[in-house]
Amino acid sequence: MPYKMHYDSDKRLIISDISCQCGCVHNSPSQDIYVGNGILDNIASYIDKRGWGKKCVLVADNITYDVAGGRASALLTAAGYNVSECVLKREGRLEPDETAVGEVFLALMPDTAFILSVGSGSITDTARVVASKVGLPQVCVGTAASMDGYTSSICPLTYRGVKIHRPGKCPEIIVCDIDVIKTAPMNMVASGVGDVLGKYIAKADWKIGRIINDEVYCDVCGEIVTDALERLLDNIDEIKSRSDAGIKLLVEALLLSGMTIMIIGHTRAVASVEHNIAHYWEMMQMFRGRPAPGHGASVGVSTRLVWPVFKRFEGEKLSKINLDAARKSLMSREERVKWMNYAYGPAAQSIMDENEGDFLSLSEQERRIARAQARAEEIRQVIAEMPPVSLIEDAMRRLGAPMTPEELGVDDNLLNLSMHCAKDYRTRYTLFKLISEMGLEDKYLADYPLNRRD
Ligand SMILES: [Zn+2]
Ligand SMILES: [Zn+2]
Repeated sequence: MPYKMHYDSDKRLIISDISCQCGCVHNSPSQDIYVGNGILDNIASYIDKRGWGKKCVLVADNITYDVAGGRASALLTAAGYNVSECVLKREGRLEPDETAVGEVFLALMPDTAFILSVGSGSITDTARVVASKVGLPQVCVGTAASMDGYTSSICPLTYRGVKIHRPGKCPEIIVCDIDVIKTAPMNMVASGVGDVLGKYIAKADWKIGRIINDEVYCDVCGEIVTDALERLLDNIDEIKSRSDAGIKLLVEALLLSGMTIMIIGHTRAVASVEHNIAHYWEMMQMFRGRPAPGHGASVGVSTRLVWPVFKRFEGEKLSKINLDAARKSLMSREERVKWMNYAYGPAAQSIMDENEGDFLSLSEQERRIARAQARAEEIRQVIAEMPPVSLIEDAMRRLGAPMTPEELGVDDNLLNLSMHCAKDYRTRYTLFKLISEMGLEDKYLADYPLNRRD
């Protein structure tokens, strides 16, 4: 094994002995990540070790406050901490938006020593962006194994209805008490599994990026993600029963996937086109004033949708590509701007600004096609490593996860559009980009027709 994973006597999860020749700098995570039963009781001693001071702002929503926030507050108060509670009260789902971020920001006092967030994705991200901006340490108490973002350094947020990503930092202390996390509802468990399943696609796209664009692929991060996937799929029944062992496995799979972000400093190992589709659905539903589907559930469904496209490409004869058709498929700058505005609406401009590399020149497109043709066998191998889609479908079904876009409230129009424009969300290379650059988009996405009127 090119890395070691173990726990110390405090139930602190440690990754060490990373051995990789990929050429990247591999950071050893400096965060204290605790996983185990009943460990919320130790929260004061975990924080004491850091010596930050005694004043903190606790961020929770009404649900997570009841699940663990109130208890964390009482435990810290009893240990001599001064806890100021910032409970974000919402009718439905908490959106990590300007209102939530503003509330947390205004709850801070000049002598606040650290922020304590109690929750899963939205709460952690809301607290994370504020902690990073004001330079305060953060302690995160996880309340659900629903996504891999606890260890992330990126904050997916909503700003004026548009999904944005802001740099943040990983919380210095993460406490995953299995006794707390296993009480989260089954749909959150299924969501966490969905988020992990997407890593199959992320890994394949990363390897394709290495083949086409000489991207550096980190073997150890690839291995960490593979181990997380395999352990998860081997233990679906344990996870389904929400046993201590099953939930711990899921928590570890999510934390380990997320730790690749700390190790190499980017999210390449954990997110690709399947995440783009999930973000797109979420963003577009918000623009339409409709409830946004949950992150992990969306990633599970989108993974299932893109999988057959990958498997079909495995049999594509790249040497027989119609080069004229491929060249004709390249959009001019004007055409691309028009397409992006059509597909992404109010979010189009910022996406184009951040991804200038997606305005492709003909010579670059031809280079990529030639590279794909020359190394077709390697691409085929990457896809052949993916198991049959039935493996992930079976896991999703057993957990009662949503299987179709319809179950997520995503209609055909949105689905069809998302399959065509997910590749345009960011420059990061994907098989979907390659399919488009080779002039094969109409053939591969014939089941997802676009009815553009412009
Ligand atoms: Zn995710
Ligand atoms: Zn590496």
